[in-house]
Amino acid sequence: MNMLGKIVLVTGATRGIGEAIAQRLKGAGAQLIVTGRDPERLRAWESQGALAKAADVTDATQVDELVEEIVTRFGGLDVVVNNAGITQDRLLMRMGDDDWQKVIDTNLTGVFHVCRAAIRPMLKKRQGKIVNISSVIGVTGNAGQTNYAASKAGVIGFSKALAKEVASRNILVNVVAPGYIETDMTQVLTAEQKSEIMRLIPLGRTGQREDVASLVHFLVSPENGYITGQTIHCDGGLVI
Ligand code: NDP
Repeated sequence: MNMLGKIVLVTGATRGIGEAIAQRLKGAGAQLIVTGRDPERLRAWESQGALAKAADVTDATQVDELVEEIVTRFGGLDVVVNNAGITQDRLLMRMGDDDWQKVIDTNLTGVFHVCRAAIRPMLKKRQGKIVNISSVIGVTGNAGQTNYAASKAGVIGFSKALAKEVASRNILVNVVAPGYIETDMTQVLTAEQKSEIMRLIPLGRTGQREDVASLVHFLVSPENGYITGQTIHCDGGLVI
């Protein structure tokens, strides 16, 4: 699964799953471009030889400028991992317009912005691999997460349509749907919520960031030449 010479963009790589994905792909030899908003973590990435940018995925102009810079500096873009995402949980009765819009803008419109900009250089090269990070919640739903579930289900539909649109140019688009992964995002759950989820995981353990990173690595590596338009769960069997 050698990534030597591959130009790889990972969004939301300052923490959590995105950071683990970026570390793994860098370890496999990729020229890495990472985004996020935390300036300190971006500087840490720069010191490791990555191009690190504070591009906000909700802002189409910032995303377009980032992809332009990548193409100018590195001559193309081979792989994109759309990982940046947020939650803003509330029961629907109490959900404000802002709770709804922020989550849709980041998790769904952000994926649209990045994919729209990235497929241009990929179409030119007639090759590319995209992995969009959804969630099992986009498949099953969850009380208190109508905004998040809608955004993550949207990512699955979006990715299927895009996979069909660009398949003839050898661009593969897949979705990874993680279950419960230990990150800042899941730190906010109460002990009671965590033990309830644990009860439902057949493999009997929570997921680690590396569990997702290794799956993403395979999907974007030269080893994957024939899987596209799929949603692959990485959830210890939570959704079977
Ligand atoms: P974290 O909260 O740990 O990290 C989120 C990352 O996204 C950070 O690097 C953050 O950057 C970045 N980010 C957020 N908003 C933006 C934005 N507007 N523009 C650019 N970057 C942004 O989350 P996880 O690592 O847990 O989650 C990563 C992905 O996996 C998300 O899409 C999430 O929905 C999904 N997922 C996670 C699960 C889990 O159990 N943890 C389960 C299922 C799906 P910064 O901090 O610099 O702002």
